[in-house]
Amino acid sequence: MAQAMTIAEKILARHAGLDEVTPGQLIECDLDIVHANDITAPIAIDVCREISSRVFDPEKVVLVPDHYAPNKDIKSAEQVKKLRDFAYEQKLAHYFEIGCMGVEHALLPEQGIVVPGDLTIGADSHTCTYGALGAFSTGMGSTDVGVAFATGRAWFKVPPSIQVVLEGEFCPDVYAKDLILTLIGMLGVDGALYQAIEFTGPAVQSISMDGRFTISNMAIEAGAKVGLFEVDDVTRAYMNGRAQRAWTEYHPDEEAHYAKTIRMNLGEIGPTVALPHLPSNTVPAASCAELEIDQAVIGSCTNGRIEDMRVAAEILRGHTVAEGVRCIIIPATQDVYRRCVHEGLMDVFLDANCAVSTPTCGPCLGGHMGVLAAGERAISTTNRNFVGRMGHKSSEVVLASPAVAAASAIMGYVCTPAQVQ
Ligand code: SF4
Repeated sequence: MAQAMTIAEKILARHAGLDEVTPGQLIECDLDIVHANDITAPIAIDVCREISSRVFDPEKVVLVPDHYAPNKDIKSAEQVKKLRDFAYEQKLAHYFEIGCMGVEHALLPEQGIVVPGDLTIGADSHTCTYGALGAFSTGMGSTDVGVAFATGRAWFKVPPSIQVVLEGEFCPDVYAKDLILTLIGMLGVDGALYQAIEFTGPAVQSISMDGRFTISNMAIEAGAKVGLFEVDDVTRAYMNGRAQRAWTEYHPDEEAHYAKTIRMNLGEIGPTVALPHLPSNTVPAASCAELEIDQAVIGSCTNGRIEDMRVAAEILRGHTVAEGVRCIIIPATQDVYRRCVHEGLMDVFLDANCAVSTPTCGPCLGGHMGVLAAGERAISTTNRNFVGRMGHKSSEVVLASPAVAAASAIMGYVCTPAQVQ
């Protein structure tokens, strides 16, 4: 009989063709999905061509031009063209042209391309997002991804797992983003280095899929390989009608070994922000009234989904953005954008004097659509606030939930929805 295993261990063992694996073991695995974006794919494509004239499976190699797209300059236009040409040449089933495109980590789950039980890699660190579906997904460099384009395989060192037990209920104005910022504040940016975080406990069922994606997305900000949720009825309801393949559910064994167990009571978490220049630099949002902002950004693979748009709209409704502040809203996918139109959220954003963008990573990585000048400060629903992340190296980014970002846009300084007058 196989030893007791965590979710991460079970998925990795299955894809390595083994009955069991243990942390620290080096294994080679078959991959379900391999993806890259307009920054990382050009190198991966070159590496792939050195090995093979064909990708291992045109159904399983996914290209998403989302970072500097729609093309912000000639260089980005050339990079996206390289993806497009390769996608047509290789007859890839999943290349997302501008107009169908979305931010990759919102798009792949939404389109049912990644399904529970998958083992996927992507040339982007926030590939860990799909752990929300019960898939082991992690970021790798362009070279590894290029090899995987050609072979469909990658090697892994089996990570130990940290168990995070969630209990209680969120208070008003508190969301999944506050939970993950609080956890990163507890762990530090390397507190889960090369480990798998497994979220469990009675409160999980009350967290929506959009909330779970937000949480898994930021697992890497504590150094984790992946942030996994067990498949439950919430996952199944999300996948039904969108999954492009049959899926497999992996549940941890009762006797599975965890390197550490952390308990969090949702009711003890308040609206939280991460101050410059680390996601772990967390403080209560209510304590930041001295912190004036020049810009608010609501979007990204962390918080650009429809629930995020609804929360932001509810707070912005009937208000306008503070004088001297820009508020940029970026629905993460075309589907989210369309829903914003149909649900009347777009009118709320426009009435509040927000700028609404087509889906793109845009300002999240200081690319375009809201780059900061020297000395400027933004509050942002994105996931990183490193030095110069959104523009000039003397600019600052404060990470927050869509609720806190929207409230701060109205008031002109960092605050909670309860502080909006
Ligand atoms: Fe990376 Fe930001 Fe794009 Fe997410 S939205 S994939 S964090 S650049």
